[in-house]
Amino acid sequence: MTPFSLAQAAVQFDQMQQLKVQDLMQPDQKTWNMEALQHYLTPQSVLYALNTPLFASANDDERIWRLDNRGVYNVRSAYKFCLTELIDNAGLKVKGDWMSIWKLAVPPKVKKIIWQVARNCLPTRARLIEKGVQVGVNCPWCNEVPETATHVLMQCNKSNLTWRNLNLSHYIEQAL
Ligand SMILES: [Zn+2]
Repeated sequence: MTPFSLAQAAVQFDQMQQLKVQDLMQPDQKTWNMEALQHYLTPQSVLYALNTPLFASANDDERIWRLDNRGVYNVRSAYKFCLTELIDNAGLKVKGDWMSIWKLAVPPKVKKIIWQVARNCLPTRARLIEKGVQVGVNCPWCNEVPETATHVLMQCNKSNLTWRNLNLSHYIEQAL
């Protein structure tokens, strides 16, 4: 795209940001303005518009964000749309009821750690080294073995002590 056509595209994008349905209709009429439709919309969108009935009783004309119940744009819904509709992330999907983690009755930081452990993305020293971070690999508590999620959460003496104090160590022993 040349700088000139890029500037034209920017101007058209800016105009589109301000565009309302009434701008695509004949002034003071409930009929489409073909010239405006063809100027602003793709041929496919023109067909969609022409197949959309214009009701005399409809007067409200405001911009809404259809991905939000209140019609207000927010990054969260846009991000979700990008992940589900625009990006091919099939290779990243792992089978399982992942939403059940977020429904647990525990603090958000606990949910996050559970999810990170389940997806093997808890930033332990072993994982950081795999990602190219320059850091010592051994567990900072015992300094005896590499700090992995399993070690730091279940095998390390420090974590064992915590589980014992909570009277939950038998669950950990079953899991190992
Ligand atoms: Zn340790």
